[in-house]
Amino acid sequence: MASLHDEHSPIGRPAPLLRFAPSPNGLLHLGHAYSALFTRAMAMRLNGHWLLRMEDLDPDRSRHGFVAAVYEDLNWLGLNWPKPVLLQSTRSVAYARALENLADQGLTYPCFCTRAAIRERSLAGTDPDGAPLYPGTCKSLSPEQIAKKRAEGLSEQIRLDTRTACQRTGQLSFTEWPVSEQGPPRVSLTRPERWGDVVMRRKNMPAAYHLAVVVDDAFQNITHVTRGKDLEAATDIHVLLQTLLGLPVPAYCFHRLILDQTNQKLSKSRGATSLQTLRKSGTTPSEIRARLGF
Ligand code: GLU
Repeated sequence: MASLHDEHSPIGRPAPLLRFAPSPNGLLHLGHAYSALFTRAMAMRLNGHWLLRMEDLDPDRSRHGFVAAVYEDLNWLGLNWPKPVLLQSTRSVAYARALENLADQGLTYPCFCTRAAIRERSLAGTDPDGAPLYPGTCKSLSPEQIAKKRAEGLSEQIRLDTRTACQRTGQLSFTEWPVSEQGPPRVSLTRPERWGDVVMRRKNMPAAYHLAVVVDDAFQNITHVTRGKDLEAATDIHVLLQTLLGLPVPAYCFHRLILDQTNQKLSKSRGATSLQTLRKSGTTPSEIRARLGF
């Protein structure tokens, strides 16, 4: 894998490196197949490479069996990737370092609120995912109050003080890469404030998704992030974190989502048919590729 990172194009820029980064919380479905095939197609179009990364941070939902199923499904689709695959569950030290950096900048605070308490108190509306915005209950806890809550054994999350972070960085932007060959890359301005004080470390995880994804994209030298349109708004938080942590900001490309009959994004929780089920019922990889337009 190291050889990919050392490879440089003739004009001295790092060779394009992309990634497909599923969370092994269930079996892959057609939406994942689309994202993986899109990532490979984009890597080929850019004359680059792609990696597979396992976003297996959630101990309650990630299963070793699902990781093995990801490998099996992607192999079945005809995809190959460099080994070893980076598992986020092995990256706690890197996430702790990033959290410490944010804390040293005075940009994080501990939060002891339960989900129900946040729902009750949230007056500020919802974030782009529709979740209640954090009302800032724990933002102004004194060191004594924090020590007392810790002594009581309350479980603790770490949140980013997003407004202060945005004031420090000023307006940020990133390069949005076109999905098709037509059209030039464009500059997208970010609005991270709409997420409120996002969680950086969860109760039972070494880092929340937003922090882990930026730390690992930088660690793996990812130059172009391909992801579904459902993660477009979250990219604003990622660019903010990259800037605060002094990490490079990759280009981003947001692909279409595969929808079900009710026009909803395919999802494990809504019971989308898995690739494994399709395979067992006799569907072939070329049928899947043709159905998804590859
Ligand atoms: N692991 C994330 C997911 O399965 C995607 C990672 C990303 O593109 O940032 O939704």
